[in-house]
Amino acid sequence: MPELPEVEVICRGLSPLLVGKQIKSVEIMCDKLRFPLPNDLAKSLQGLVFFRVSRRSKYLLFQFEVCSDKAAVLVWHLGMTGQFHVLDQSSPVFKHEHVRVNLENGTALCYRDTRRFGYVDLLSLQAIETHKWFIQLGPEPLEENFTVDYLIHCCENRKVPIKSLLMDAHVVVGVGNIYANEALFRSGIDPGKAAGSVSQERLARLRDVIREVLNDAIAAGGSTISDFVKADGKPGYFAHQFRVYGRENEPCYDCGKLIRRRVQSGRSTFYCLGCQR
Ligand SMILES: [Zn+2]
Repeated sequence: MPELPEVEVICRGLSPLLVGKQIKSVEIMCDKLRFPLPNDLAKSLQGLVFFRVSRRSKYLLFQFEVCSDKAAVLVWHLGMTGQFHVLDQSSPVFKHEHVRVNLENGTALCYRDTRRFGYVDLLSLQAIETHKWFIQLGPEPLEENFTVDYLIHCCENRKVPIKSLLMDAHVVVGVGNIYANEALFRSGIDPGKAAGSVSQERLARLRDVIREVLNDAIAAGGSTISDFVKADGKPGYFAHQFRVYGRENEPCYDCGKLIRRRVQSGRSTFYCLGCQR
């Protein structure tokens, strides 16, 4: 499943290919992904001009220049296997391609999704904040409002393990399992430690490190941006960055002790006994 850095890279990759371009027509090969596509999606999008491509949590937000109150933003979640490509309109339809948005400039935004867990809605800008997908979400980890004081406040008196707290989207969005593991390693915190017992100094470090690991991953993924115009291109995980994730029984780069793995809330937790306490 794409994590926040992958979605951010997709967003940055698509933006220059779409912004300012007008939609000529929309072909729908399959009208139900995880949920049915919005009624009249093709008709609603026809003639709109892309104004901005942005991201909230792991949702891509395609905002349009000229829009009715109802159809200001196309919200798209990639689910497990969703991929976007921008190709020439003459390109043959992919296997598992479900939606193709043809642009006036001769290119097409193609959405393919093998497992069809992606989902889509058309919303007004105002409706986003109160929509059920967004209303409960915490701050973006890379934005100003994810402050040290905020993280300290979220951890106060909490007995839940710090790793589970980081992965709770009500607290902060987009810190998935991989990045929670990496951030806790880089800040030297035992993933199983109760959130409320981590010192304020260490939480301050943790907040900085969360941004660091996400930004590093986005930077590592930046080199895949050109793949959006190739049929076989797809953004992967930025694996060469990982210092603990997926490294069970391999030596820690910092202290040489073997990386351990345990299952915590149903997810693999990788950590170093030498470096994290
Ligand atoms: Zn270590």
